[in-house]
Amino acid sequence: MDVVSVGNLNFDIYLKVSELPGPDENVEVLDLYTGGGGSAANFSVAAARLGLGVRFIGAVGEDPLGELSLRELRSEGVDVSYVKRVAGVRSGVVIVLVHPDGVKRMLSYRGANLGLSPADLTIEKFRGFRHIHLATGRTELILKAKEIAKEIGATVSLDGGTALAKKGLDIVKAVVNGIDIVFMNQVEAKLLANSHDHKTAVEKLAKELSVRELVVTLGPRGAVAFDGRRLLHVDAFKLDAVDTTGAGDCFAAAYVAMYLRGRDLYEKLLFANAAAAIKVTRPGARSSPRYSEVVAFLE
Ligand code: ATP
Repeated sequence: MDVVSVGNLNFDIYLKVSELPGPDENVEVLDLYTGGGGSAANFSVAAARLGLGVRFIGAVGEDPLGELSLRELRSEGVDVSYVKRVAGVRSGVVIVLVHPDGVKRMLSYRGANLGLSPADLTIEKFRGFRHIHLATGRTELILKAKEIAKEIGATVSLDGGTALAKKGLDIVKAVVNGIDIVFMNQVEAKLLANSHDHKTAVEKLAKELSVRELVVTLGPRGAVAFDGRRLLHVDAFKLDAVDTTGAGDCFAAAYVAMYLRGRDLYEKLLFANAAAAIKVTRPGARSSPRYSEVVAFLE
């Protein structure tokens, strides 16, 4: 088996509206669609579609939404046998308001996700895997997973999201120390580096963070990576984006897939940009491509 992905699993509810409600106001929802979400779960599906053997470790409530989410992951070939069932709380839910202004507005109920504790990350759940992907900003989980990775000789990637970036540079420096690949988007990079400009932010973080590879995604402008020797930017593919939700998770999965194949920095960025480009042309957080689709796209 290849990768254990640790972090959140959610059920996403998208509500399309033409205006946003004010206090005491009732606004009609024009369309509603639902789908699996949560960064670690999205990563798991994307990685499995790219041909990796994936185990997801997270938590759900004892409710129908949790069961549905697990069934979806199983149908993608993801091993969910160690997902925790947390009694007395509901599975995580995210409500996304889709408004014509294109700005994402999200309401998150973390619910059962918070029931995953460092004590749940035991070595036997990771043994036999060569890589651990952490899609969580919870430092206690990151530190525990790093210890396990060291013991079993696995490499580690981390996508800590805004939750981690908000903790500030000093804490992040200590937490990410020694991690193989750290992913973040440009908003998180700028926040963490306290800079208005993504270039300055990446250069500062490349100096400050003691990681093997730092990868910053730039939305429609592609991504930039630093591997300790060189800083490389690879442009995104120009396509009509319909839904960028989960683009970062798909990007990370594709990058890790190429990392595990020993590809060079340019190949990893190119493949990840291609996978994420295909994803953004399709609705839903889990509409990531299969390996053969990415290869065909790049031909
Ligand atoms: P999310 O939080 O929605 O998962 P993110 O903010 O983590 O996304 P982005 O930087 O927005 O991540 O996008 C990740 C990658 O997806 C980019 O590096 C790029 O490869 C691809 N991508 C995003 N938007 C576009 C676009 N409009 N056209 C082509 N590729 C895109």
